[in-house]
Amino acid sequence: MPADGIESKKHQDILSYEDIIKIVKIGKEMGIKKVRLTGGEPLVRLNLDQLVAGLTKLDLEDISMTTNGVLLTKYAEDLKKAGLKRVNISLDTLKRDKYKIITRRDKFSDAIKGIEAALNNNLSPVKINVVIMKGINDDEILDFVRLSRDRKLHVRFIEYMPLGGGEFIRGAEYLETAQVKDLIKKEFTLKKASVYGGGPANYFKVIEGKGTIGFISPMSQHFCNKCNRLRLTADAKLRPCLAEDIEIDFGNNLTKDIITAKFKEALIKKPASHKLNIKNSKNRLRTMSQIGG
Ligand code: SF4
Repeated sequence: MPADGIESKKHQDILSYEDIIKIVKIGKEMGIKKVRLTGGEPLVRLNLDQLVAGLTKLDLEDISMTTNGVLLTKYAEDLKKAGLKRVNISLDTLKRDKYKIITRRDKFSDAIKGIEAALNNNLSPVKINVVIMKGINDDEILDFVRLSRDRKLHVRFIEYMPLGGGEFIRGAEYLETAQVKDLIKKEFTLKKASVYGGGPANYFKVIEGKGTIGFISPMSQHFCNKCNRLRLTADAKLRPCLAEDIEIDFGNNLTKDIITAKFKEALIKKPASHKLNIKNSKNRLRTMSQIGG
């Protein structure tokens, strides 16, 4: 989240739950099988379990959520009952002070309690997303590996993508997966593993690990040629790629024909790959705080 926040949207400018469900229903008829709720932060939206319950009725293969976990203690049980299968929780550090600096919020304990709530309510596999930033949290890589050894958590080390919009997110903090893996291998033996989910992570286990570690390498080994994701924004636009400012607007008239046509347009406009490179980082229309991963 940028220091000065983002401009908030009016209630009438964001999709209602009914409209989201309508769009997903038509998407499902066109072949979409899995839905992930992201954000910003999805749990700030009121009665999110009602959206999950509506999506559950569509009989999708998977309904998951990416969250900072801060409000999960409050909502995990209701979300599970509504049909949410699993969560990914963003946690870039295991230190409270650093968490406050990175997130601009003193909510570390709530995030940790949220992870416990996810485990207790079997929102599994519970995945922990760690964006590795050189000089910021690379000193904690082995601590995160130990976490995956001691708890049934699936820690994913994600290469930082220079998506613009903040003093932290510049190329200087990028650390390649290969370097992260080398560092871990000095301390631990890694065995190949697999974890449920359609994502791009390569998973490993350390000896006697209860959970796993995964590596997601959008920069050093980008996986765009296998990417089949479309993002639906809260303000009714389809983004075919996280890293490109391409948006297809559904507009206000959500008929079946229009929704179908917009899905097709988004697929046609989906780029072959991102064009991110460290030297050419630029500000984008939406930052990660408005896309949610
Ligand atoms: S195409 Fe875009 S959204 Fe898909 S993996 Fe590449 S950068 Fe990410």
